Amino acid sequence: VKNDVLIVGAGPVGLINGLLLARQGVRVTVIDEAPGIVDSPRAMSYAWSILDALDYHGLLTPFQAKGFPINGRGFFVFNTREWIVHKFDCLRGWAHHPYTLTLGQELLAEILLNLLEEQPTAQVLWNTRFVGVRQDPQKVSVEIERDGKPETLEASWLIGCDGGRSPVRKALDLSFDGVTWPRRFVATNMYHTGLTKEDWPASYIVDTEYGAVIAKINQNNLWRVTFSEPESMPREGVEERIDAFAKKALPQGSYELTLHSIYSMHQRTAPKYRVGRVLLAGDAAHVTNPTSGFGLMGGMYDSFCLAEALGAVIMKKHDDEILDRYAKARRDVFLSVTSPISSDSLRMGFYNNVPERLEHDLITMRQMRDDPAFMRRALMAPALLETPSLLDGKTFRDRLSEQGNTPAKSNPYWPD
Ligand SMILES: Cc1cc2nc3c(=O)[nH]c(=O)nc-3n(C[C@H](O)[C@H](O)[C@H](O)COP(=O)(O)OP(=O)(O)OC[C@H]3O[C@@H](n4cnc5c(N)ncnc54)[C@H](O)[C@@H]3O)c2cc1C
Repeated sequence: VKNDVLIVGAGPVGLINGLLLARQGVRVTVIDEAPGIVDSPRAMSYAWSILDALDYHGLLTPFQAKGFPINGRGFFVFNTREWIVHKFDCLRGWAHHPYTLTLGQELLAEILLNLLEEQPTAQVLWNTRFVGVRQDPQKVSVEIERDGKPETLEASWLIGCDGGRSPVRKALDLSFDGVTWPRRFVATNMYHTGLTKEDWPASYIVDTEYGAVIAKINQNNLWRVTFSEPESMPREGVEERIDAFAKKALPQGSYELTLHSIYSMHQRTAPKYRVGRVLLAGDAAHVTNPTSGFGLMGGMYDSFCLAEALGAVIMKKHDDEILDRYAKARRDVFLSVTSPISSDSLRMGFYNNVPERLEHDLITMRQMRDDPAFMRRALMAPALLETPSLLDGKTFRDRLSEQGNTPAKSNPYWPD
């Protein structure tokens, strides 16, 4: 067996796993059926807590070089025109990185790919499709189709990082239990001349019809505008619906559409993330609606936890029982943190049709704005996505502090 680990899927989760394993000297092959990195408009926002993990692994500096920080978020109540703005200043002096990083998922993946390709024990095979897997106590045998021709690859371990429709998960005969929301997302990239108000860089429009997530993608006035529509709508005619939405919800200024994509929204998880020598991570293991931005962040936290644990097993520093703990811990996080918090964000922004319930949400959001201690407690949510190291119980925050990296009182972006 030449490969220690075969990873299916060169999305961000597969690439992070590959990189962190290869850095430990593990021989890893990442395969993807696509000819290169997939560039559909998806993740772009990473909350403060995961920046500790990226910093610890030396990834924050290259990500920051291509991305930019955001210091808050706004909520625009469509019917009343009320703006509620939350600033992240309350994290200063407490968090190592008191801001949210914006970076398109395809740029993030490209950086990871470049770093992975520098690793002597790693290779990435494009145009290589996973077809099936068999396993025995020593190894996995993976059927692939490479440039249309069938082949078999062997490895000690297989990680399925092949996204929400995961052929690996299906080959294991695992279900994907949960719900699909009745409304789906239309994600667009557009240049927009009207989104100049400083509150906009990361904002929600709160409304049952015109609810949206609006975020600045780059400094050239390119924006991600994501709104929702009933799942039952035909896919045809979406450009007219984008136009109707933009004219009604963002009437100031004009727009030029550059990309769009329709996504169904789900809360779903596999019943287990480990079957013998096969593991699942990222969207292959669990999917959430992206309103809180917890999809890829959850997948990254899976990767940090799994790459460390699997590396220890391969280097014979740990029994493989640690992989059962990985599988349980990450599924528990999805069920108790990722999915309920993301569902509540979606409900708040897009399904808030009971006036008393909306008022209740708005009272909470105004209180967060006015009370920094309350705001800081509320901003702890993304940190709950982390599973502390299965080897030593430490969080990335603990590890940075041990390295003498102190929480930033101010930061290079917003000095006091
Ligand atoms: C509109 C939208 C906005 C989002 N915003 C955010 C956000 O701001 N923050 C956040 O954290 N998350 C966000 N997400 C979620 C995020 O995009 C996903 O969680 C993320 O893409 C998961 O990464 P992954 O690597 O697990 O899977 P994917 O990115 O789906 O990658 C899977 C890879 O597997 C490959 N593959 C599939 N089948 C095979 C096969 N048979 N053989 C070989 N290769 C195969 C595919 O080609 C692909 O490259 C958003 C999602 C959407 C839809």
